[in-house]
Parts: sequence; C-alpha cells; structure tokens
Amino acid sequence: MKEIEYSNAYTTSSYLRTIFIPSIMDSLFEKVSSLHYLLEDNGNQFINNTYSGSYFEIFHQLQTLKAEPSSIVSNLQLNTLEQLWASWYIYINNDILGTGLLFFLTHEIMYFGRCLPWFIIDQIPYFNRWKIQPTKIPTNKEQWECFKSVLKSHLLVEALPIWLFHPLCAKLNISITVPFPSFSIMLMQLGIFFFFEDMWHYWFHRLFHFGWFYKNIHKIHHKYAAPFGFAAEYAHPAEVMALGIGTVGFPILYAYLATKHDIPSLHLFTLTCWIVLRLFQAVDSHSGYDFPWSLNKILPFWAGAEHHDDHHHYFIGNYASSFRWFDYCLNTESGTLFKQRREINMKAKAERKLQ
Ligand SMILES: [Zn+2]
Ligand SMILES: [Zn+2]
Repeated sequence: MKEIEYSNAYTTSSYLRTIFIPSIMDSLFEKVSSLHYLLEDNGNQFINNTYSGSYFEIFHQLQTLKAEPSSIVSNLQLNTLEQLWASWYIYINNDILGTGLLFFLTHEIMYFGRCLPWFIIDQIPYFNRWKIQPTKIPTNKEQWECFKSVLKSHLLVEALPIWLFHPLCAKLNISITVPFPSFSIMLMQLGIFFFFEDMWHYWFHRLFHFGWFYKNIHKIHHKYAAPFGFAAEYAHPAEVMALGIGTVGFPILYAYLATKHDIPSLHLFTLTCWIVLRLFQAVDSHSGYDFPWSLNKILPFWAGAEHHDDHHHYFIGNYASSFRWFDYCLNTESGTLFKQRREINMKAKAERKLQ
C-alpha cells in the first residue's frame, strides 16, 4: 500500500514537472524568440549547435561564427554588445521572459550598483570636503532602512509593469533584433527622452509640492533633508508611478508615432540605455556630493547633485530632474541667493506699479 502511494506521488510530481507546468508556461508566454527565428532562417546549424548551451557558450559560439565567412552572423557583423544581446535572447528563448528579466535585472543591478560607490564614499571621511551638506552624513541604519524600503517597492510596484512590457513592445514595433540602430539615431532619441522627461518631472514635481499632494504623497520622499543615493526612489507608490510615466511614457509615445510617421523606429537597446542613464541621473542627483569634475561643472545646464540637494534642503524650488533651464526660465530656483533675488525683483515690480 505504501509503495502504491509513493508511486502515485511520484507520478503526480513528475506529471506536474514534465507536462502541467511547461504547458502553463507555454500558454502564458509566447514560445521561441524572434531572434531565434532571425538566425534560424539563415543558419540551422547555428541553432542546432547552440540551443542547449549556456549563456556564455552561446556567446562564445556567436563570436566564433563571426569569423566564418559563410555564416549569417558574419554577414550581420555584430559587435560585442550585439553578440551579448543576441546571446541573451537566444539563451532565454522566450521574448516575454527575455525582455521582462532583462528590464528587471537591469533596473536592480544598475540602481543598487550605482548606489554602492556613494555608500562607500559616505564611510570615508576624506570625501566629506565635497559633501554638499557636510554636517549631515547619513547613518548606516538610515541607509539600510531606506534600502529595504526601496527593494520592497521595486518588487511590489515595479515588477509587474516590467513583466508586461514585451507585449507592448511587440505592438509598437520596438525591435529586439540585431544589429542595433546607428549611434546618431540612438543619440537623437536619447536627447528627446531626456528633454521631455525633464519637462514632465518639473511640472509633476511642482504639483507634488501643493498642499494635499505634498501631505499625502510627496512628503515620504522628503524624509531626508540631506539625500543619499538609495533615497532616489524612496517615494510613495503613486509618485513612483506618476514620475515613472515621464521615463517610460515618452519612449512609448515616440514608438507609437514611429509606427504612423516616417521617423526612425525605436530599438529596445536604446530604451535600455535610456533607463540606465535615467537611473544614474536619479541616483547621482541624490548622492549629496558635488565634485570639481561633476558633469554640472562641464555642462552648466546639467542639474547635478547640487541642484537637487538644494531642493531637499530648502523644500522650495529646483523641481526639474536633469536640466536647470525650466527652473531658471520659470523663476523657481532654490537657495537663499535666489530667494533674495526673487524678493528684490518683486519689490522692484511693486514699486514700479506704485509710480
Ligand atoms: Zn520635492
Ligand atoms: Zn529627491
């Protein structure tokens, strides 16, 4: 009797493992990536050789095949980045899973990876000379609490939209194939995304400083008057969503327009680069350090850490994310100097009215 029970249990678990779960996965995810098809169309030998290989085995084979004049990979002339990208999609062999995992891992590795040097710098007193608010070094306990909270929010709020991103990409013709678009096209698209995200961020951030919005949503982000890297995405879920639209909404709008008009289409690699650059911008602007070699010293219109640190310090002004021009043109710059300048201008205006 015992033996039969054991055998039934074994059959059930093996049925689950070999038939039920794979069939559920097949119905949930579209099987076989388009890169797989792209290469299969042109070289069955390549697919047969690499289908069961590990990620690095596939990457190695892509590199080796490049040297063979008859192979499709040679015709495509892939660079190392393109080989790494193609290996990923061939290895995962499932577009939805490939894009979802790529975005989730890119977000986590790039965000926390970029925070780490700032955390280390906070432990070394030598760097204190470049700290914008030198008396306010965050404690390790504060950083640890913030880290846990941001990670929880990533898993709860951001994991699902990232997971559902591929079907949207497919609808909007956002390509995942190799080779990548030219550098000039990527640069043009990144410039557009930077400009419009900054504009969106400016207006929504300004809105978040009004009564109800501040009290119920944005106050959480202002917990730290002297920010640090991990605090970049420490915010209410509604704020993460609203400001996140500025980051992903414009690329989606661009991709939609590219399906209707004669403009260069969007590649998922360009979008990945944009997300990484935007994450770096957000973490760096919360770092709390302004070095003589910081980007805002080279490009005066770049906001940098000094700009956003002042926002956390004074609570008013400096609402934009990447650039200084919106705060400059709309007279919302932070700090005592700008406050004095605004007061002088207002006084002069009032006097002119009286004359
Ligand atoms: Zn604010
Ligand atoms: Zn902030």
